[in-house]
Amino acid sequence: MRIVKTIYEVRKAVKEWKREGLTVGLVPTMGYLHEGHKSLIERAVRENDRVVVSDFVNPTQFAPNEDFESYPRDIDADAALCESAGASLIFNPNAEEMYDNALTFVDMNKITKVLCGKTRPIHFSGVCTVVSKLFNIVAPDRAYFGEKDAQQLCVIRKMVKDLNFDIEIVGCPIIREADGLAKSSRNTYLNSEEREAALCLSRALNLGRKIITGGETNTETVVKAITAEIEKEPLAKIDYVEIVDFNTLERLDSVNKPVLCAAAVYIGKTRLIDNFIME
Ligand code: AMP
Repeated sequence: MRIVKTIYEVRKAVKEWKREGLTVGLVPTMGYLHEGHKSLIERAVRENDRVVVSDFVNPTQFAPNEDFESYPRDIDADAALCESAGASLIFNPNAEEMYDNALTFVDMNKITKVLCGKTRPIHFSGVCTVVSKLFNIVAPDRAYFGEKDAQQLCVIRKMVKDLNFDIEIVGCPIIREADGLAKSSRNTYLNSEEREAALCLSRALNLGRKIITGGETNTETVVKAITAEIEKEPLAKIDYVEIVDFNTLERLDSVNKPVLCAAAVYIGKTRLIDNFIME
């Protein structure tokens, strides 16, 4: 496995693989890799001949008041995880290599303005831009995204359709800690008291899922129950709890099609997201 820093080196490697008739999978990440990322890489390794992992904390998806500077980074540990998962190449560029005075950005209406888009208005434009660039740099056959960031997965699927990228988008299930907390690079921000408090999110979503499985179809009833469960935790401050159509991200009154039940909660200063999808 190699680590490269330039677009030129990635393109050269991929061109050679394609000349040999090999298929290529891409796993876009911001690094500080954990078991969640590893599950994406392992799936990509199973389904493709070669796998590129991009490892880049993308500045354009962070607002000035967000955690770009403090976002955790550890390329040596990331390299070890990628190697053990069977990746072929890590693309670890710096911001100049990726943006070089760029004036062009990819934006999307509607589904980027709801859920996380309400509190993070520039976030998905940054995500669409960097993922488009990675798609053009790597030209993969398939790209792998986690359902942990369900809105992002929905946005990427829509972008691929709208802009005619010839790439298959593969969604992968959420990987959790033994106690239920969804794995996230941002979990490292939590002190021990906050780590305990953070469990309210998966606990409340589990409750919501049980209520739906038990036959409740009224989304307001389910959202209220989830909200009440989270509000039992004094350290938690809710950003949103919503049940939406998993394709359009429009709010639903009743659970009668594939739904995404998503929540974002601040635990102290750390903003955590989690969700469940019901087909
Ligand atoms: P990030 O490095 O946080 O930008 O995440 C890179 C990719 O890994 C995204 O597609 C995420 O959805 C995915 N991912 C992050 N955490 C998890 C998790 N706990 N389970 C599954 N996928 C995840």
